[in-house]
Amino acid sequence: MDKLLFTPGPLTTSMTVKEAMLHDLGSRDLSFIKAVREIRKELLALGHVSQDTGYETVIMQGSGTFGVESVISSVVPESGKLLVLINGAYGERIAKIASVHKIPYHTLVCDEDQTPDPQETEELLTDGSFTHMVIVHCETTSGIFNPIDAFGELAEKYGVTYIVDSMSAFGAVPVDIAACHIDFLVSSSNKCIEGVPGFSFVIAQRDSLIKCKDQADTLVLDLYAQWIGLENDGQFRFTPPTHALLAFRQALRELAEEGGVSARADRYRGNFNTLAEGMSVLGFKEYLSRDKQGYIINSYHYPEHAAFDFKAFYNKLNDRGFIIYPGKLTKANCFRVGNIGRLYTKDVQALLQAITEVKSEMGF
Ligand SMILES: *Cc1c(COP(=O)(O)O)cnc(C)c1O
Repeated sequence: MDKLLFTPGPLTTSMTVKEAMLHDLGSRDLSFIKAVREIRKELLALGHVSQDTGYETVIMQGSGTFGVESVISSVVPESGKLLVLINGAYGERIAKIASVHKIPYHTLVCDEDQTPDPQETEELLTDGSFTHMVIVHCETTSGIFNPIDAFGELAEKYGVTYIVDSMSAFGAVPVDIAACHIDFLVSSSNKCIEGVPGFSFVIAQRDSLIKCKDQADTLVLDLYAQWIGLENDGQFRFTPPTHALLAFRQALRELAEEGGVSARADRYRGNFNTLAEGMSVLGFKEYLSRDKQGYIINSYHYPEHAAFDFKAFYNKLNDRGFIIYPGKLTKANCFRVGNIGRLYTKDVQALLQAITEVKSEMGF
């Protein structure tokens, strides 16, 4: 049996999702084009929008960051200015993308255990120079949930285009894209929808997308050109990840069978609660305060004990079939445990049992 992945992705997927890849489809095959159409439509529905209400899905080859880079490099014009709200490594990465593409930007950085301050954000927006604003939904660095609805209100009030990196939240955290005033939402195949890695997708407000024509300073990541390609003949401009798309269609069907986004949220929340309770009994301290903690991934401080060594801890869990994740925080030594993917309460209980064994073996 494969090891269980308690990580932010790639994640443990169902056998049926893996089996969906046992077909070689040509990229011009009608059944493949139909699958892509079904995926693009279903993704809009997950965000409570549709083509009829003015939204489009653009699928982009590559991992999640390719989708983010596609949006940032296609959406912000030379004459624009991007406000990047940052409380973790993924926000920092967006600023890096803007810098690489020489896009004018400004960062509002806050501590990794805090959400960006709406008042400070509003003060920056009142100066009128910003045309675009971007925030990470679940900042996977810590697991914190940022209030994308409140920042959407600000984007709407000041007329700025609103971009959300919802990579590790979309599919498991309910979001109404129109109600949150989101112009571009980015997520990927291998996070909460429980597909395999291979592509990212962007849900875009059509009028905002049309403004991106001929604006990208990249060929492969040109969001508008990718959309036009998909619209014209249902095909990708460059070789699509056919197998990953078939797996993803199956994953979307399984998400619907489970009861949709709210049911998936319930399962992940169940995993989170089981983990949080068990880890607390074992004496591990959470990095985030409970009111800021999301249910996607948890960060735990390294135990303050000479016998604790993360590498050894990680390897011993790995030997028992459980993969956890190192920390990425700048100011605290933490490790992370994901609650997402095809994992159930019984799997979390098995992980907790393994942690109990490893803890006593290591003697911390
Ligand atoms: C996973 C993730 C990404 C994308 O990472 P890739 O390694 O490129 O797939 C971007 N933002 C957030 C918040 C993520 O969790």
